[in-house]
Amino acid sequence: MDGIKDKDRKYIAGTYGRYDLHIVRGSGTECEDEKGKKYIDLGSGIGVNCLGWCDAGWIKAVEEQLEKLQHTSNLYYSAPDAQLAEALCTRTGYKKVFFCNSGAEANEAAIKTARKYSFDKYGAGRDTIVTLNKSFHGRTMATLTATAQPAMHNWFFPFNGGFAYCDKDMRSIKAQKNVCAVMAEFIQGEGGVIPLDKAFVRELADWCAQNDVLLIADEVQTGVGRTGTFLCSEQFGVTPDITTLAKGLGGGLPVGAVLIGEKCENTLSAGMHGSTFGGNPVVCAGGVYILSRIDEKLLQEVREKGEFVKARLQGVKGVKSVSGLGLMLGIELEEKSAADVVKACIARGVIPLTAKEKVRLLPPLVITREQLERALDVLADVIAE
Ligand SMILES: *Cc1c(COP(=O)(O)O)cnc(C)c1O
Repeated sequence: MDGIKDKDRKYIAGTYGRYDLHIVRGSGTECEDEKGKKYIDLGSGIGVNCLGWCDAGWIKAVEEQLEKLQHTSNLYYSAPDAQLAEALCTRTGYKKVFFCNSGAEANEAAIKTARKYSFDKYGAGRDTIVTLNKSFHGRTMATLTATAQPAMHNWFFPFNGGFAYCDKDMRSIKAQKNVCAVMAEFIQGEGGVIPLDKAFVRELADWCAQNDVLLIADEVQTGVGRTGTFLCSEQFGVTPDITTLAKGLGGGLPVGAVLIGEKCENTLSAGMHGSTFGGNPVVCAGGVYILSRIDEKLLQEVREKGEFVKARLQGVKGVKSVSGLGLMLGIELEEKSAADVVKACIARGVIPLTAKEKVRLLPPLVITREQLERALDVLADVIAE
């Protein structure tokens, strides 16, 4: 046991069940532990390191800003956050961006925006936000309450009011009263890489539009190219009123963003919401660079690599099915536990993730075909063993 693991256990709050792995450096899609053993990354630090580890262009963008200044506060104007907001709006058609520091915070801001929009127009009481069973929206009190997983609604009583949990079924959504918004992941990530049905999403978007109910897409995991389009919603043919982003947007530095459409572009005004660290110039300078790299060529490659993974795992002994889009994939196993598969893969130099009972793959978007092949050989072996 090296000293770091002991220190971690002694001093870090015990909220994480860690694998027996201490990564000390990385480059591209490969990294090294403290003993110099090499690994291929199929997890991107849970969908964060979209350009892999220590991408040279991203480091340059971050360092150049770091040498100018590291923080000013939102009391003053700052170039990197304006540039990142412009790049996001130009790319997606959204009107305004609110920056914060995490996915949960982005969803919090989306919840506040939806409630305020409805309050302004309809007065108090029309404040219910519908979320879908098996969703995951974060760990703060409101986003934990929004997370429709009964097992997580424990210990921290009282939970916030104003959420209703529904199946992926319009009848159960239409039966809810006083709804101001529906919040959904188009591919449920933590819930097990479960894509929503396209026809259901279109019907939901139509019903929301007809009833002035805001559609909030939680793209914290699916966004920023992960599924092979910049936003996953593009592949569903709908335009949510609000989209939240986080994980991949900073390429490894903490950032969250709320993309706000026409309907609520003026809903939040001065003093109604804020974040001391939100829009940090160093983080946003890196984000501008990340967006510049996620072009149509890279997105095409992400789609192709996703198809390659699905084809490679098809028919592998022990694999029941593969779900997901682009490089957000979930492998349903016949018998083995996903946690055991991940442990065995790590022992053999490959780092996948789990999502409930599935093995989840979120490799860096820039992973090469050769690295993917090598990693999948190990994964397929471990599953079939
Ligand atoms: C990870 C995740 C979150 C929470 O993001 P944090 O940065 O951990 O707060 C919210 N929604 C979805 C869909 C996620 O995948």
